[in-house]
Amino acid sequence: MSTAVLIDGKAYAEAIRARLAISVGELHDYHHIVPGLAVVLVGQDPASRIYVRNKHKQAEEAGIRSLVHTLPAEVSEDELSTLIEGLNGDREIHGILVQLPLPPHIDTQWIIDCIDPAKDVDGFHPFNVGHLFTRGTGLIPCTPLGCLKLLRRQHPDMSGLRATMIGRSNIVGKPMAQLLVQENCTVTIAHSKTRDLARECRQADIVVAAVGRAEMVRGDWIKPGATVIDVGINRISLEDGKSRLVGDVCFDEAVAVAGAITPVPGGVGPMTVAMLLHNTVLACCRQTHVEPCLHAVGKRMSSGTRCFACNAHERSSC
Ligand code: NAD
Repeated sequence: MSTAVLIDGKAYAEAIRARLAISVGELHDYHHIVPGLAVVLVGQDPASRIYVRNKHKQAEEAGIRSLVHTLPAEVSEDELSTLIEGLNGDREIHGILVQLPLPPHIDTQWIIDCIDPAKDVDGFHPFNVGHLFTRGTGLIPCTPLGCLKLLRRQHPDMSGLRATMIGRSNIVGKPMAQLLVQENCTVTIAHSKTRDLARECRQADIVVAAVGRAEMVRGDWIKPGATVIDVGINRISLEDGKSRLVGDVCFDEAVAVAGAITPVPGGVGPMTVAMLLHNTVLACCRQTHVEPCLHAVGKRMSSGTRCFACNAHERSSC
């Protein structure tokens, strides 16, 4: 029985973070600039606290100045927007991330709209969403960008491949589908109302699952040799009272059919954080008019220069 190649997002993310740390060092040494990231956490959601702690730690390790603003769950929209306005005007802060979900009394989209698009390192502001669809120079949401980088390693040229995106959220599904279109894939967006999801998956060379339902995608939904990117993070209870994380794809079944697959954990998750740091350095370069990261917007570096976000030379891509 053949076994799929494991796409090691953990190792790739570590390599990206190491390159970013070099770039951050160069920004400091040559330009006296330290990229600054502000993370806003509202309430006590345990998963959000873990995510924020992780982002803060990895940012600091890369040399990025990270500040976490923790607010009580009952904070008002006005108080939250006032904090964001202050961060928008703070020249030492280049990236702002509001950890989602926010408490139900807060209008999430209105809060996202308050963030300066140049500092919107999550890429959720309508300005950046619009840029994504017009192939501009905005900031791209971290999870889809991380998935794209994993896919590019597997498929340097995705032209003409069929891709099925399961899920249509603003955070993952929709931007990911758009990135796949830009790679010249023929893209199907499947969702909770899709009639025959298994059939939509079986015809795909690339399946990206972002649903939030444990092991929903079965092995016999996968076309032999297809590449499977599993975005889902689901905690399931085990018989011995313990629990473990699984994706939206039944890994044990899919690994026997797919050509390549991401594990959960250790696949997309670490890439999401690495892309947050990437976006923060990119935003910093743009705001300080240093060396804009041309790689990140799909352009080549000028001769002899290095990309400040990825530290790569001209002609390579980050
Ligand atoms: P969401 O709840 O906003 O969207 C889920 C999508 O799945 C919806 O578009 C819905 O139409 C679709 N869906 C629901 N049931 C379905 C079904 N039975 N068949 C087909 N489609 C169905 O979720 P999200 O924010 O996009 O996140 C999805 C998953 O990805 C979650 O498990 C989340 O924890 C995970 N996630 C992981 C990362 C990461 O860094 N690894 C980042 C973001 C989200």
